[in-house]
Amino acid sequence: MAEDTIRIAECPLCGESHQYSMKVNREIISGLATQPQSFRQVSFQREFACPKTKDGFEGTITLTETTMMPIVSVEILGIHQED
Ligand SMILES: [Zn+2]
Repeated sequence: MAEDTIRIAECPLCGESHQYSMKVNREIISGLATQPQSFRQVSFQREFACPKTKDGFEGTITLTETTMMPIVSVEILGIHQED
């Protein structure tokens, strides 16, 4: 499973930007492989934890899915540690 990151540009609690690790689960529909793919934007409401205030806030993630690989679920794993 691919692990992605999402950046919250402006945290509603402290105003800074935070980056989170998330796991996006996509279904693979192989039967549609011969059809032209179409893309669409899907939004998910998730709970994020601010690392500064230790409080939680609701954030919206917008991701792109294709007809062949619709997004089944999105899981926020926590703050992404930059190397
Ligand atoms: Zn914050």
